[in-house]
Amino acid sequence: MLLESGLELCPGELVWDATGTITALRRPRGPIADLCVLPGLVNAHTHLQIEPVDAPRVFLPWVRAVIAARLATSPAAMDAATRTAARQLLAEGVTAVGEIDSTGRTPRALAGTGLAGRCYQELTGFHLDASASRKLVRDRRGDAVSGLLAGLSPHAPYSVSPALFQAAAKATRHLAIHCAELPEEQQFLREGTGPFADLLRNLGRLPAGFRAPRVGAVRWLERLGVLRPGTQLVHCQELERGDLARIAASGAGIAVCPGTIAWFSRTPPPVPKWLAAGIDVALGTDSRASSDAFSLRAELRAAARFWPELSPQQLFTMATVAGGRTLGRPRLGRLVRGGRADFLCVTARSDRALAHLEPFVHGELAVARVFAAGHEVSRS
Ligand SMILES: [Zn+2]
Repeated sequence: MLLESGLELCPGELVWDATGTITALRRPRGPIADLCVLPGLVNAHTHLQIEPVDAPRVFLPWVRAVIAARLATSPAAMDAATRTAARQLLAEGVTAVGEIDSTGRTPRALAGTGLAGRCYQELTGFHLDASASRKLVRDRRGDAVSGLLAGLSPHAPYSVSPALFQAAAKATRHLAIHCAELPEEQQFLREGTGPFADLLRNLGRLPAGFRAPRVGAVRWLERLGVLRPGTQLVHCQELERGDLARIAASGAGIAVCPGTIAWFSRTPPPVPKWLAAGIDVALGTDSRASSDAFSLRAELRAAARFWPELSPQQLFTMATVAGGRTLGRPRLGRLVRGGRADFLCVTARSDRALAHLEPFVHGELAVARVFAAGHEVSRS
């Protein structure tokens, strides 16, 4: 049994109570099965409601296609899509997610699936002033449902007004923000020009007298007071000089999505440097609209390819406990007394659990069974 990436208990026995909470991790007292138990995976950033779309792999046309598809989808179809995506993730051993919910429907759609993590209610509105922002945050504040705790996702610096960022930051410690994803985003913030300025103007969302903040995304978020512990920054493709130290000092974490990097043919950012700076870096699938596989195990394989200098332990940490930490759920993605009994089983290849990490991150070991809060949720 692997308790977390560097810590094993072999042979081991895992005991949990009726609430699905681990009560003991110990040497076995009875016969043992020939299985290797690993902690459940944490998909730190996803949009379960979004289905694949037929769109060019260019960001702005792609966003327009995703929004159009969302508007054309009925609430019932969206709930069905959410559950389909959840089942797909559970079957490969994902037991927790950082979900961006655009409609407020995800927590109920996921009730009973066993998925834990955090459900961030998405906020957009580049045109919103303080009172409109407070009202939107009040209306969109989600409730925790079973294992999914609530958070807010002010979408991105090019789609959220300063007042809306501040209203969200006041309402919760737990924020997820798409940050420094594109050169055009940095251009918009630095100069107030480019495709995002045009888009906002066309939508009637660029306030009269708008002035660009004249700093990049990370410094802008810092100035707004949202670069802080409990904030998960998503993507960070286009960090500028000094941003790495700024993020490391702030206590914010980062979620990267290798499948999205590959989808848009982007250059992988320097994740090993981020880890060396002490930042929690987690893996996410993003949505099915920007992922060929929609699989956290595929993200792990891609991460191993993009950043070959990372050890299997570092990669596995990104897919488990680092995900939990960026969601403000530090007990997820590891097997620990008092934590949830979320785990997966693979056929044992060795009597050392640690020996399974390398083949697992390279996609070689099939997941045989998956348990969430002590209940079996998938068996192959
Ligand atoms: Zn996203």
